[in-house]
Amino acid sequence: PIESYTRNLSFQATERMTLELEQRRAIERDELSLHYQPKLCLHTGQLVGAEALIRWNHPVFGEIPPDRFIPLAEDNGMILQLGDWVLQEACRQMREWQDSHAPFGPLSVNLSGSQLRQTQLVERIAGTLSDFGLAASSLQLEITESFIMTQAEEALLILHELKKLGLQLAIDDFGTGYSSLSYLKRLPLDILKIDKSFVRGLPGDPDDAAITRAIIALGRSLQMTVIAEGVETKAQEIFLTSEGCEQIQGYVISRPLSAESFAANFLGPLPIGSAEKAPV
Ligand code: C2E
Ligand code: MG
Ligand code: MG
Repeated sequence: PIESYTRNLSFQATERMTLELEQRRAIERDELSLHYQPKLCLHTGQLVGAEALIRWNHPVFGEIPPDRFIPLAEDNGMILQLGDWVLQEACRQMREWQDSHAPFGPLSVNLSGSQLRQTQLVERIAGTLSDFGLAASSLQLEITESFIMTQAEEALLILHELKKLGLQLAIDDFGTGYSSLSYLKRLPLDILKIDKSFVRGLPGDPDDAAITRAIIALGRSLQMTVIAEGVETKAQEIFLTSEGCEQIQGYVISRPLSAESFAANFLGPLPIGSAEKAPV
């Protein structure tokens, strides 16, 4: 009935406003954190990096998933502040790990479309890396296919600048965003990330299997490293390995973990003899 529909709408509007207000204070109140999910190489079984994923733990509402507040932050402009915070925190954490653990990386950070349009994004990233004494190669940026494809010419320029800095670039959620293949070829991308919606049906669903196979072939022919996200089962992992996918990320390896758990479970000790030259 119409009445419950409008009630529902105003509930949603109120919820949205509350979230917006709360979001403005989340950084000051220290309610945000990053969790880290490992990425594994299927050929060697080695850790090849991790993805930083934002977490918001609200004192009253509890854990609010990024799918609920990132789109909101993109609409109201807060994403620039959140994005800066994420970049800072990821680099701070990476510095700490490089000082106390065996080398690993790169660490991936998700970048939203509005961040890519931010003036001086390249300078900001370069500044943050140098503040923490990190090489550009220790950072990877994940950018969704849908953003890259809708902002074609604009994105091309910025991606080339980021690439020149020495960062690794990944196209995220690939397969969901209507790529123009001739355009894709012109982009300086290192990594192609198969969206988890195609991985879910593997190995049984013939459509998902065909799409996954085609994406892997496309990535390889464009000389990109192909990674599958959302890998939950051994059967999915085996299928991906047999089709030539190089890396995986997903619950079959690990859920995203707090920095402490990630280090305890996945990072090795600092190699002997390297301790003296750690901090500068
Ligand atoms: P994404 O970048 O595609 O990240 C992958 C999502 O899949 C993450 O959800 C991750 O927790 C989840 N995931 C990992 N392994 C599995 C699995 O085996 N099965 C399933 N079903 N899911 C898995 P999360 O952390 O809720 O993040 C959702 C989205 O929010 C991200 O999608 C990304 O687009 C966005 N996001 C997260 N952190 C940030 C951030 O710091 N900045 C920006 N701009 N966006 C972010
Ligand atoms: Mg991502
Ligand atoms: Mg994704």
